[in-house]
Amino acid sequence: MSLTSPVPDPISGIVLTALGQKCFFCGQRCSDPAIFWCGETADIYLHPRCVTDFTIRLHRDVHEHDRPDYYRRLRNSDDPMRG
Ligand SMILES: [Zn+2]
Repeated sequence: MSLTSPVPDPISGIVLTALGQKCFFCGQRCSDPAIFWCGETADIYLHPRCVTDFTIRLHRDVHEHDRPDYYRRLRNSDDPMRG
């Protein structure tokens, strides 16, 4: 994970900018600074403000994976908090 910047890295001289990239989460164009992850199959850019919402949803999916019975009951209940 890195923060993007239009300023070259002082050691490598490499510029890692988010200009021209779309946010993996919301799809809107990024500007610097943005969050950059270099994955095994793709690189992703995220607005800093999108990271929290994205990670909450990831954790929610992991929670559902770990507790499928809880979510099955939740979907079948009349609980107004379900969603
Ligand atoms: Zn975004």
